[in-house]
Amino acid sequence: MKHNTQETLQGQEMDSTIKRAMRKPFSDSKIIERANLLRDNDLYFFFRAIEETAASTVTVKGQKQIMIGSNNYLGLTHHPLVKEAAIKAIEKYGTGCTGSRFLNGNLNIHDELDVKLAEYLGHEKAIVFSTGMQANLGALSAICGPKDLMLFDSENHASIIDASRLAIGTTFKYKHNDMSSLEELLESNVSRFNRVIIVADGVFSMTGDILRLPEIVALAKKYGAYVYVDDAHGLGVMGHQGRGTMNHFDVTKDVDFNMGTFSKSFASIGGVISGSADAIDYVRHSARSFMFSASMPPAAVATVSACIDVVTSDDSILANLWSNVEFMRKGFQELGFYTYGSQTPIIPLFVGDDMKAVKMTKYLESKGVFATPVLPPAVPKGEALIRTSYMASHDRADLTKVLEVFAEAKKVFEIPSHLH
Ligand code: PMP
Repeated sequence: MKHNTQETLQGQEMDSTIKRAMRKPFSDSKIIERANLLRDNDLYFFFRAIEETAASTVTVKGQKQIMIGSNNYLGLTHHPLVKEAAIKAIEKYGTGCTGSRFLNGNLNIHDELDVKLAEYLGHEKAIVFSTGMQANLGALSAICGPKDLMLFDSENHASIIDASRLAIGTTFKYKHNDMSSLEELLESNVSRFNRVIIVADGVFSMTGDILRLPEIVALAKKYGAYVYVDDAHGLGVMGHQGRGTMNHFDVTKDVDFNMGTFSKSFASIGGVISGSADAIDYVRHSARSFMFSASMPPAAVATVSACIDVVTSDDSILANLWSNVEFMRKGFQELGFYTYGSQTPIIPLFVGDDMKAVKMTKYLESKGVFATPVLPPAVPKGEALIRTSYMASHDRADLTKVLEVFAEAKKVFEIPSHLH
C-alpha cells in the first residue's frame, strides 16, 4: 500500500489498483455551450451589473434605462417611509441576526411580522422564512410525508418543482390550470394516500395568468384535499389592499396554506407561510429550511412591515399599478403582440426563436429599455418570449416610450402576432 499519494500524483505515476473518477470538465455541458454562444455574439444578458437604481429606472454601463423586467410591482424599493424603516432597524438591531429563528436569531420584530402578516392575509397564523424559495422547500417537504401525495400545476415555479424532489411523498403534475386534468388525478389517487395537497401558483410567473382558485377549492372540498397557493406574484398586487389571490376570489378561509415572498411587491427579501394555527405550528417545528438557516436580517423585516403599512394606507399605489397594467396590455395588444392570457402586471410577449429574443433584448437595451428574455428550457422550444412587468412607479411618459420602442422592434424583428 502506498502512503505518499501527493508525491505519486505529482509524478503522474498512477497506482493501477486505485479506481479513479473521470473528472469530466464542466465546460462540456450544454448549458455552458449555450452561454459561450451568447458571449461570442455579444448577446449574453445574464448577470447584467446594475450600477444605480431609482423607482422605475436602472443604470447599466452608464446608460439610464426604463426598467420593465422587475418584480417591484408596487415600486416601494425607493419609498421614503420604507427606506427610513430599514435604516432605523439597522441602527437598533445591527445588520444581521447570525442564527436561525428556531435557536438564536429570533428578534421581536420577526414575531411581530408573523402576527401582522397573519392579520393582513386573514389567516390564523403566519411565519416568516428567509426567502420565498426556502418557504416552499421547507413547508412543502414538511407537509408532504411518505404516505402523502402532492398534485401540482405544470407551470408552477422552480421552487415547487424542487420542493417536490425534496419531499418524501409522491408527486404528480396536472396540465396548466386545467381542472379536468386535476380531477382525473384526484379521482384515481385519493384513496391510495393519507393527505393529498394541491399546489399551484396564484399568479403564474411567466404567463401572468391567474389560478382558477375557486374551482381548485371546490375540487379540494369534493375529494378531501388540502390547498397550497404560492402567491409570490399575487401578494401586494391582487385582492383588497394587496392581500393576494385568495382574497381576490374571497376564498381565504378555504386555502390551507398561503405562501408569499417579499422579494417582489414588498421590496425586500424573505417569505411567508400562513394558515391554521395547528398547521403553521407543525411547519415551524419541521421545516428544515426554517430551522437550519439564519433568519431575515432586521432591515429586511422592517421593510416588509413598512410596505404593509404603506399599501394599507395609500390606495393610490395599487390604483396606479392597475392603471399602468391596463394601459400596457391594451397598448401591446393594439401593436399586435401575443400576450398569452396575462391579466396581471406580468405581460409576456411571444417572440418564437431564441436568438431573435436575445437580439431583440439587445435592441431594446440600445433604445433605453431593460427587459428580460425567457428562453428554453424555461419555455418550450421555439416559444422564446420577452417577459415584461409593470410597476405603480412607472410614469406614462416612460410607458409611452416603451410602447414606441416595441412598435419599432416588432417591425425590425418581424414578431408574429400569435403563438406559432
Ligand atoms: N415562487 C414564485 C412563483 C416565484 O416567482 C419566486 C421567485 N421568482 C419564488 C417562489 C421564490 O421567491 P424568493 O425570490 O423569495 O426566493
